[in-house]
Amino acid sequence: MSRSLRMAVFLCCFQAVAISLLAISTLAAEQVVSEGVLGRGETWETPWRAIDSRVEGPTVVVVAGLHGNEPAGYRAAEQIKYWPIAAGKLVVLPRVNRLGLAANTRWAPEFRNDRARRDLNRNFPTSDRDEVLTPVCQAVWKFVQEQKPEWVFDLHEGFDFHRLNSKSVGSSVIAFPAEAEFASLLCREVNADVAVDRQFDLLAKSGPVRGSLARACGERLAAKSFILETTFKSQPVSLRARQHRRMVSTAFLQIGLIDSDCTDRLAPASAPGVTRIALFDDAGANEAKVLKVIDDRPDSIVCHVGGVDMKPQVLEQFDVVVFPGGSGSKQGAAIGAKRRGHVRDFAERGGGVVGICAGAYLCSSHYTWSLDLMNAAVFNKSFEIPGKGRKSMWFRGPATDVDVEVTSRGATVLGVKGLSSVRYQNGPILSPGDDPDLPTFEPLAFFRSENGIYEPQKNTMIDTPAVVAAQYGLGRVLAISPHFESTKGREAVVRSAIEHVRRRGDQKR
Ligand SMILES: [Zn+2]
Repeated sequence: MSRSLRMAVFLCCFQAVAISLLAISTLAAEQVVSEGVLGRGETWETPWRAIDSRVEGPTVVVVAGLHGNEPAGYRAAEQIKYWPIAAGKLVVLPRVNRLGLAANTRWAPEFRNDRARRDLNRNFPTSDRDEVLTPVCQAVWKFVQEQKPEWVFDLHEGFDFHRLNSKSVGSSVIAFPAEAEFASLLCREVNADVAVDRQFDLLAKSGPVRGSLARACGERLAAKSFILETTFKSQPVSLRARQHRRMVSTAFLQIGLIDSDCTDRLAPASAPGVTRIALFDDAGANEAKVLKVIDDRPDSIVCHVGGVDMKPQVLEQFDVVVFPGGSGSKQGAAIGAKRRGHVRDFAERGGGVVGICAGAYLCSSHYTWSLDLMNAAVFNKSFEIPGKGRKSMWFRGPATDVDVEVTSRGATVLGVKGLSSVRYQNGPILSPGDDPDLPTFEPLAFFRSENGIYEPQKNTMIDTPAVVAAQYGLGRVLAISPHFESTKGREAVVRSAIEHVRRRGDQKR
């Protein structure tokens, strides 16, 4: 059978089971990428993506997001689906329980009161039950069967480290006894970077849990199937997604699906018309509100990144890095001096940087932990406050709304005009710094009212810049002191800021 005929048959099979096909495109070499949605139009519809290398090799299925409160699995799967495979075929179902993921709930929301069905990873056929219990799992099971996978990896997260709390399977690789050796290799690799009390354990005594997709794939399809579990307790998504990528990359290398380590592959190599955004979520970052306004949009891809990701081979995959609110000093420390230099190199070569509140402190040149992306000082003088001792003036009290006026230039960049009330929580009060070698900033908005709890703070905030822009090498930097993302009706300002700093084709390295 010719290749094109085989492809046509491949398509017909999908259409016959009512899967709507979104797009087919041919990548570099002869790879064929296909994408589609199971159950299109149904409330539970769920997307898939397949890459056929057209080189002899195994078919591998990666599934994630069966449990909606386990985000790292689906974040990693959304990244893995773009990996360049060297042989075989890769099929990824990144967000099976799409509604649960949106609601951050373990269960399928439509079945939350149905104890027998609400846990999608108990819905699949068992040794004594042929029935698949929910429509989404019926579609997934049919689709996976059609792939005839030789390998299946299902990405999950536990609530605690199995090593410390046996009630959770967090940080483990779950495998059938026959696959214990392969699974232990994944544990060994991922554990290279993990503290002793948080290390991954091999759980291969009885295999994946009854009713799980992985167990069904092992028992019914004779696929080598695994459940990979990270732990969501006190670890950022960036780290957990990295652990998933590392385990999956190790497995793919071993199987021969890829020919080089893909742990550091987060974003697609090329994404025309799409802004690739790295959102910092490591120590000192409160990224949730920013994530909400930039996530899940057709014009952007968002990946969580941590301090260890601030290195050239990861940064170069992105158009923009966003440092959210939280603690500037903690974010600066999590990045470290050497990698702060990598962030500057990224900007120098045309990368965009947006810093919000703590992230704006980070963009300044004021502190030892600053990124030094613009010549900007921060008002943080210390004063003796009667009855309270010596206090630094950066702290101005609980979050409040202040008046912010956007300049006419700012209006074109930020997409909002004039004076409005914006959430403020101790963002930096910026002024020109003392390093003339660094880029000068241009104010795009000014504070027109102020917040403060100490006498010496009076009149130190009004008419100072609230949003500033600078050009660093070929890259653009935008530092935003207040929280537009937390201000009703002003959330889109963050997207405009990202769009402004995104690397332009004509500025590219
Ligand atoms: Zn799970």
